[in-house]
Amino acid sequence: MWGSAGFLIGIVLGSLVKVLADRSLSNKSFWGRSYCPKCQHKLAWYDLFPILSFILLKGKCRYCKDKLEIEYLIVETVTGVLVGFLFWQSFFSFSIPQFQILSALMELAFKTFFVVVLVVLFLTDLKKMFIPDRIVIPSIIIGIVGLTVITLYKIVYLYNYLSGSVVGRLLLPPHNTYFQRHALAIAQPFFLSLLTGVLIGGFFWGLIIITRGKGMGGGDVKLGAFIGIMLGFPQALFALMLAFFTGAIFGLGLIITGKKHFGQAIPFGPFLVLGSLMMLFWGNLIIDWYLKLGS
Ligand SMILES: [Zn+2]
Repeated sequence: MWGSAGFLIGIVLGSLVKVLADRSLSNKSFWGRSYCPKCQHKLAWYDLFPILSFILLKGKCRYCKDKLEIEYLIVETVTGVLVGFLFWQSFFSFSIPQFQILSALMELAFKTFFVVVLVVLFLTDLKKMFIPDRIVIPSIIIGIVGLTVITLYKIVYLYNYLSGSVVGRLLLPPHNTYFQRHALAIAQPFFLSLLTGVLIGGFFWGLIIITRGKGMGGGDVKLGAFIGIMLGFPQALFALMLAFFTGAIFGLGLIITGKKHFGQAIPFGPFLVLGSLMMLFWGNLIIDWYLKLGS
């Protein structure tokens, strides 16, 4: 049930992803109705159903009969599956307290937003080795605002909850430090996330200076900061490790098969995206497994 709802939301977001990625690459405005890239005919509302329209039109433009990119279908389906999986995984019952429902919904929206931005940047970096500022910079801002709202909500709720009862009021200042201690514990991951963003961004920045711009670009700095903020500590650091690991294996594969030679650049963004998705979905499992390796 949750999974299918997520899939439906995901395929709609998937068509948004494709538009954002295409228009970033062609440097066109994000606003305005979708149109056929070949004949420029504006699309009607019934041409805009994700997946369904593509199938009904047999992959051709209704107006000029030109073939539509199969990429529409792929991006919509992949985004649908990712968001569906996210919803399915974050299943929660509505019988939990109202406070938890709201914060669970906010966290789900936060993660869905993360997935959408990741898929857009995966596409642009893969196709043109380009991480557009007009996607990644607003995303960093939205990420920080979202995280702030969720954190403040939890702290304000705790305060209201405590002040609602006689016993609770005794836990508030000046009687007790209970509230301060718990508010601090809620705020801690928030500050760690910001710090992780600065740390990863700074790390990439350092790599650019050391390698004199070979290998990494300014886009990776911003994408790294975004991932740090969205995944937090230590998840984002694991995402980084996974990205380096999968990137190295893939790069080695390309060199062995003769598709690239050593020193030739491959975009790093797609690996950052893959590492982030792995941590978003299986973060706890991966961290547990890693910790067991050491013991
Ligand atoms: Zn057309």
